[in-house]
Amino acid sequence: MNAVAARPHRLTPDQVPDTVVEVLDRDEKAELTERIRRLLREQDATLVAHYYTSPELQELADASGGYVSDSLDMARFGTECASSTLIVAGVRFMGETAKILNPEKRVLMPDLGAECSLDLGCPPDEFAAFCDAHPDREVVVYANTSAAVKARADWMATSGIALDLVRHLHAEGRKILWAPDRHLGAWVQKETGADVLLWDGACVVHEAFKADGLRVLKAEHPGAMVLVHPESPADVIALADFVGSTTGIIKAAKELPADTFIVATDNGIFHKMREAAPHKTFIEAPTGGKGATCVSCAHCPWMAMNGLRSLARVLERGGNEIHVDPTIRERAARPIQRLLDFARSRRAVVLGNNDA
Ligand code: SF4
Repeated sequence: MNAVAARPHRLTPDQVPDTVVEVLDRDEKAELTERIRRLLREQDATLVAHYYTSPELQELADASGGYVSDSLDMARFGTECASSTLIVAGVRFMGETAKILNPEKRVLMPDLGAECSLDLGCPPDEFAAFCDAHPDREVVVYANTSAAVKARADWMATSGIALDLVRHLHAEGRKILWAPDRHLGAWVQKETGADVLLWDGACVVHEAFKADGLRVLKAEHPGAMVLVHPESPADVIALADFVGSTTGIIKAAKELPADTFIVATDNGIFHKMREAAPHKTFIEAPTGGKGATCVSCAHCPWMAMNGLRSLARVLERGGNEIHVDPTIRERAARPIQRLLDFARSRRAVVLGNNDA
């Protein structure tokens, strides 16, 4: 069974900001980088960046003793690093997850307006009512949700472990309520055969990939392999040689026997893919067929809000701190901890094999 919640929870184009990529000349980049490194040291702060942020931010995180990874791994790195302040370059739910797992630390973000269409498309009150209407189902929510939505869940899942977790629940005879990404949920349902009721949300970046255009591109590059993130539509996933998380995609680029890859996920990931496999060629999967237009064009508009300028500003002026209500924090920590315990019990490699 694969049912979908009655009401779609998609953003309209006017709710999606334009993607504005920070452009810096060499001198400004060097000056900002030096200034930020000094401020990080002075404030006992560590920069943790997502794979979808700019190459400048990823380079700075690596060079300053910080970290670049997927969302859960970013948060877990935060628990292990000794700094009293974490600067999370990513989107808001990542800052919240870092705060949930590290309540004693100060968590700052370069831009608090950096949201996520999946998070925005899952309002906590409406989601709670949906859960209440289906009390017989185990509530599994993706990492890309607010603290309040996680607080209503039985489990958190990431794309790296979703199949394993849902297979386990299915084997125990449980029925699943999955939120918020319907494409990821449908893929999990198809692969596991579990009874999954879907919330009808989507990522504006991944939902824009188009199977028709991908077929044309494959024909133009017959030796290329196709790497797809499972937030993409089913007809795009069906054309993939590999389907998996961001970390899984980087690993696949390094290990699979091809010199050219067509990649259906945010193009921010190309920075780490080129580092991992410098002699290989990476091509963006198309976000429109012939004559079509795209809204996000394979780059998340909210991820693009993170830049060196906004990072320097938050370190100099303060503000942009993430706070999570203590009661919600306590409840939201449970499904996250359950996931970590499950992964450990399965000996799954959670670190570096996770989400969006
Ligand atoms: S790429 Fe999609 S899932 Fe990731 S933060 Fe942006 S909107 Fe959310």
